[in-house]
Order: sequence, then C-alpha cells, then structure tokens
Amino acid sequence: MFCPQCGAENPEGAKFCSKCGAELAAAPAPSGASETTIGLAPNIAGLLCYIAGWITGIVFVVIEKKSTFVKFHAWQSIMTFAVLNVAYLILFWIPVIGWVLGWLIGILGFVLWIILLIQAGSGKMWKVPLVGDWAERQASKVS
Ligand SMILES: [Zn+2]
Repeated sequence: MFCPQCGAENPEGAKFCSKCGAELAAAPAPSGASETTIGLAPNIAGLLCYIAGWITGIVFVVIEKKSTFVKFHAWQSIMTFAVLNVAYLILFWIPVIGWVLGWLIGILGFVLWIILLIQAGSGKMWKVPLVGDWAERQASKVS
C-alpha cells in the first residue's frame, strides 16, 4: 500500500508509514452511514424530505431504506407539516380568532420549514420539539 501523505510504498497492513510516520489505512467511512437508497448524499436527501412538506416526507419514507438520517427527516417532515396542516384546516372554520391563529401557524410553519431545510441540508439531525423524538423512534425501527 502507498502512503497517502508522502506516496512511499509500505508493506501491506502496516499501520504507519515507514518514511514519514503518517497513519496508514485511514479507517474507511463506515458503510451505510453515508449512503442512501437513491444514491444521493444524505444531507441532500434529508433536505428534499422537506421541500414539499409532508408530501415529500411520505415519498422518502417509502423509498429510503438505508439512511436513518434520511428516514428521520422524512418522518419529521410528515409529522410536523401534517400537524400544522390539520391545525390550519380546523382553525379555518373558526371565524376571526381561528383565522388569526391560522395565520400565525402559517408563519410558524414557514419559519420551521426554512430552519429544517438549512439543518437537514447541513447534515444535522435537528429535532422539532415533541415531534423530533417520535420521528427518531420511527427512523430507528427496522423496516
Ligand atoms: Zn509517508
């Protein structure tokens, strides 16, 4: 094997380079962690879970089998935006107060959407209060 640092040839299985002392055989990335079923980077797939709210959440719950990260964001997208959607629809039927609350929920949903896109896009498992823990349990279930 060749040293990634200086290029010197070393005996197979050597831990350190005999020439420069650099660590050889840098542990390969744990398989599975950085893979998704559709072949996208997990952070991109995670971001896509939120693009169209719970609709893309469902799409990724169905297609993603490998990445717990992506499954987490898919479930969180479904739960977060389904709850907000239902709340919005109910409030719509309550004049004035309901409309004001619905309007606030709309803003809350939009702000959450932006935060979630940024967090997932940067590879973080940011959890929405209450919903996040539930999504994490769903994601870690073996399907
Ligand atoms: Zn070396």
